[in-house]
Amino acid sequence: MVLKLSLSMSILRQMSFRFIPYMLELNRPFSIAGSTRSTTPAVIVQIERDGTKGYGEASMPPYLGESLTTAEAFLSRVNLEQYESLFPLEEIVRDIDALAPENNAAKAAVDIALHDWAGKTMGYSWHSKWELNAQTIPPTSYTIGMDSKQGLRERLRGAGEFKILKVKLGGTRDKEMIDTIREMTDQIIRVDANQGWRNKSDALEIIHWLAQRGVELVEQPLPKEQVDDIAWLRERSPLPIIADEAVRRLSDLRSALGVYDGINVKLMKCTGMMEAHRMITTARQLGMKVMLGCMTETSCGISAAAQLAPLADWVDLDGALLIKNDPFRGVEIVGGRLVTPDKPGIGVEPVVDMFGSSGN
Ligand code: MG
Repeated sequence: MVLKLSLSMSILRQMSFRFIPYMLELNRPFSIAGSTRSTTPAVIVQIERDGTKGYGEASMPPYLGESLTTAEAFLSRVNLEQYESLFPLEEIVRDIDALAPENNAAKAAVDIALHDWAGKTMGYSWHSKWELNAQTIPPTSYTIGMDSKQGLRERLRGAGEFKILKVKLGGTRDKEMIDTIREMTDQIIRVDANQGWRNKSDALEIIHWLAQRGVELVEQPLPKEQVDDIAWLRERSPLPIIADEAVRRLSDLRSALGVYDGINVKLMKCTGMMEAHRMITTARQLGMKVMLGCMTETSCGISAAAQLAPLADWVDLDGALLIKNDPFRGVEIVGGRLVTPDKPGIGVEPVVDMFGSSGN
């Protein structure tokens, strides 16, 4: 009897932590100021404990400094078996963060998988746990990368159901791009210069020009190091100025106060859902606006971010629409709005057998 009981206890305690590289294939080559790419490396994480599986994702655009090699090296150091329980999450997420500096996307993968596992184990979604109403998520924007006139027209045909476009500028044909878009649509435009403008006076001139063409805000107009120039620009700009590259984590937030009107929070920059929740709450206390954004990601990362989306002023969570090999089913976009499934955790299930026959 004693033997039988201890055996069942060990089965109950069964724990696995697995991760696998997964190359995200973009529908179309994606160009922003400074780079063009057609794939994004990602790593999918699976935590299984007591018969429940949680999923997470690290998506790593090359310009952020992480790679499959660094992510796998970091994840190899994660030891969840040392914990008697995977609750409370806070302590474990803190330990994961302390394993090594940087590695923010790899840390996010673990954080997301832990949240998914915990929600599924306890039977709640995170938006309900945080007492947020998923019906109040603002409509998401749809990203339009830099392209030729013909390319832009083709991209815009795929953006019909979206009320808002996020247009990547910061190149040499910015006005031509906006004119081409305005010939086709009067959808709201948000501009992301990805640090591509170099001179504060030129930036102010184009922001005034953009304001006359129905642009709503400008993200990261100048290189993040030009702090005084950005503060100068913000004082004079008719449009809100939002930080993206300049603010990765909670610790970056205070230095953005007085320099930017708001911040773009992304799970892959800030190490995951727990810190993103803190960043949004703190930004609000500081009187700053909040955009919730993403990288090119699967529905795993997007569904995790969607749990926080009712807290955002602006939502930019179209990353899973930009890839053609999404291995998850989770949040969907209907009529330009995120629809979160009524499921526990982050609401995702794999549709591809990534971890082998015994894995998914
Ligand atoms: Mg951006």
